[in-house]
Amino acid sequence: MTSLASAIMRQVDELAAISEEPGLLTRTFLTAQHKRAGEAVIGWMRDAGMAAAFDAIGNVVGRYEGRSPGLPALWLGSHLDTVRDAGRYDGMLGVLSAIACVGALKHEGVRLPFAIEVFGFADEEGARFQSALSGSRAIAGTFDPASLEKRDGDGVSMGDALRRFGGDPAAIATVGRRAEQALAYVELHIEQGPVLEAKGMPLGVVTAIAGASRYAIEIAGKAGHAGTVLLVEKRCAEAPGLVGTVGRLSAMPGAVNVIPGLVRFSLDIRAAEDGVRRAAVDDILRGLEAICRRRGVQLDVGPIHEHGSTACAPWITAQIERAIAAQGVTPLALPSGAGHDAMALAGLVDVGMLFVRCKGGISHNPAEAISMEDAEIGAAALLRFIRDFAPKSARA
Ligand SMILES: [Zn+2]
Repeated sequence: MTSLASAIMRQVDELAAISEEPGLLTRTFLTAQHKRAGEAVIGWMRDAGMAAAFDAIGNVVGRYEGRSPGLPALWLGSHLDTVRDAGRYDGMLGVLSAIACVGALKHEGVRLPFAIEVFGFADEEGARFQSALSGSRAIAGTFDPASLEKRDGDGVSMGDALRRFGGDPAAIATVGRRAEQALAYVELHIEQGPVLEAKGMPLGVVTAIAGASRYAIEIAGKAGHAGTVLLVEKRCAEAPGLVGTVGRLSAMPGAVNVIPGLVRFSLDIRAAEDGVRRAAVDDILRGLEAICRRRGVQLDVGPIHEHGSTACAPWITAQIERAIAAQGVTPLALPSGAGHDAMALAGLVDVGMLFVRCKGGISHNPAEAISMEDAEIGAAALLRFIRDFAPKSARA
């Protein structure tokens, strides 16, 4: 049975063809390609029985009314923007699976005791303006208008790009929702990690989205960096769910027979528990200082970014688990290392996520892949979840 997945996978491929760069998938915030992809999604939403349109910041929003118009809504969705040279499932799978589920309800003539809204968020990745989560923050009412001054690589400001797109910077505040309009936000997403594949499981339920601490580090003077990288590896192996990455490393002068005199690198520490992350950051920075003191080299640590972890609401994850179990799959609980729109919305509404296994754990890469069977079982679990959804206030 691939009744939901065949449409989802066809639409995934259609969106993957809408790219700023020929031969690879790049579709960033407020480009002509963003517009075209959004228009295609709006068309599919309308086919599924939803009222759909772009909002003032470029999110695609579709609404399927419940038994009477204007009811609070179960929110579903993910993002439609990509990184450069992206995979085709990251973000899009969540939006298209949600539309397929609504289409199935419409096909059966089913109206639920709540509305459903599906979001195709405009700017989760932040690849064009280094912004990230702009669309979901606008919905949550936490979009920072100063972001409109951010410029892309060609010097175009976000505000100008938004006007050119047909959006309205002055109306972004009106995009923000009130808490009582939403019952929950549930995002289906590919795992972007290898856990489900390693366990032989197609679906997982997310317990929390990891918090992250990111630093730019510079060591001036001979050597010292190798010890640092080993320190990060050793410290992060001490706690389960703690991930440390030195993703960028440059050494100057960069000659094979010269010990580098200046080394710059990035440090990214993530954990589902904020206390675990902070303790690791403290230990690593202290260890770094000790190494640099011992070696007589100069250390400069610049914090870049820090955000706390986002817990998924237990009352929602319990319902996601039941929906997964109903597919004959044992639900595997796991944290999300990567960030998602759910983080931005969690300040407004309780959130939950379900993960679909991806091949080799690869994401942000053209090799990103999922199977038709997993797409089907993911969408079927989401549909089961929607049909059985019990809002928090309605529970005993
Ligand atoms: Zn994503």
